[in-house]
Amino acid sequence: MDKNLLCFQLRTADDNVCFGFGLNDFQIPNELKSEIIESLQNEINIVFVQRLDYAHGNAQIPKFQRNNPEIRNRIRAFQNLLEEKYPQIRKILPFFNAMQEDELFFFSPKVDIPFEEISSIDEYLKSQKLDIQYQIYISMKNAKYENVLDEYSLVEFKDNEKYFIGKDQNCRFCNKDKTKTTFKNKSHAISEAFGNKNIICRNECDNCNNEFGKNIEQDLINYLRFFRDYYGIAGKKSDNKYIGKNFELIKSGDKLKLSYKYNIEKEKNNTSGFIKLLPYEKIIPQKIYKTLCKYFLSTIDDSFIPCFKETINWINGCKSSQELPKIAVSMSKSHFTKRARIKLYLRKNRNYNLPFAVGEFNFTVIKYIFIVPFSNQDSCLFIKDEDFNRFWLFFQNYSYHLNCDFVEFNDTEKVNPYIEVNKDILNFTTPTPLK
Ligand SMILES: [Zn+2]
Repeated sequence: MDKNLLCFQLRTADDNVCFGFGLNDFQIPNELKSEIIESLQNEINIVFVQRLDYAHGNAQIPKFQRNNPEIRNRIRAFQNLLEEKYPQIRKILPFFNAMQEDELFFFSPKVDIPFEEISSIDEYLKSQKLDIQYQIYISMKNAKYENVLDEYSLVEFKDNEKYFIGKDQNCRFCNKDKTKTTFKNKSHAISEAFGNKNIICRNECDNCNNEFGKNIEQDLINYLRFFRDYYGIAGKKSDNKYIGKNFELIKSGDKLKLSYKYNIEKEKNNTSGFIKLLPYEKIIPQKIYKTLCKYFLSTIDDSFIPCFKETINWINGCKSSQELPKIAVSMSKSHFTKRARIKLYLRKNRNYNLPFAVGEFNFTVIKYIFIVPFSNQDSCLFIKDEDFNRFWLFFQNYSYHLNCDFVEFNDTEKVNPYIEVNKDILNFTTPTPLK
């Protein structure tokens, strides 16, 4: 390395900056240059020192560190000291300000690091930012398949076409035939409350259809009622008023008025862009999960039903589980649909690293992406972070394009739900302080 050059580099998952500047432009006698460089190099090292080992006179500079106020203070001091002489140094503080608090960064007092080393450093930083184990991140990145459809067959339904699912004579859920149960009513694969009338399941018996409607589907309907009413989706009944603990939604004619009562103390500093709406009706989260899976099983071809014997037992309450995979929840105007839509992914091969069945349920601005648990084609439940992340990263159509929260719907007791809504999605007429 040139003795007359001061060098160091900084990298994050999104950005990098290298510094290398010499003293040749300055009127400094040659014999002094290396001394000055050395003292500057020491200054910059001191900024990034984490621990001083006084006994041996060593300063430890970890390659990977986290952005925090302390390090920014040291940079500020360093910058103040040298910026007049070396204006390039002014680039350091904005670099740190652009980072998230506590974000991992890489520091090296060298700029000439081999390319292979640099790319694995960058990949490590990216995996850490995504909160995924490095090895998993690498194996997903190196996976041969780029396309979800290489591994899965996808079933989609068009809004304006009618679908009649099922040829089997027996009910797909209880396995009873015409002599033991009836098939008189139209069984809507997805509850009519979500505006869906075009997908009919032929082999779902009246009894099962009734039980699902009474026992599980109502929880999802209640849970999404706000979106149903806000976007005026005509279901079986259409109320003119929906009043929650901290909001009021009133329809009169074509006009819609949403008032939101906010808690001044709690929310004055809320800059997150989200508000929490609190409905009165309690819900059982696991029933929401069951309903999504029931929709999935009402819309797949008969031939797959035997793979889901355990799933059906679970939906029917004959099998209990305290732990389920998380559900990815995305809220955006960009995927708005007035009628509920469902997409079904079924794995085509024996790649047990990925779940056999994955569903997407979309209603208004809400989208759920869920794994259908307990199929006999899976070797794990995708509950462990490692397994779930592998699944999620593989579905790049979601993981790279949707902004999702990962929500647990495990609870089997009644809970007070809340709906976290992006303020941009709603038009408030009268936000009023809570009394
Ligand atoms: Zn049945």
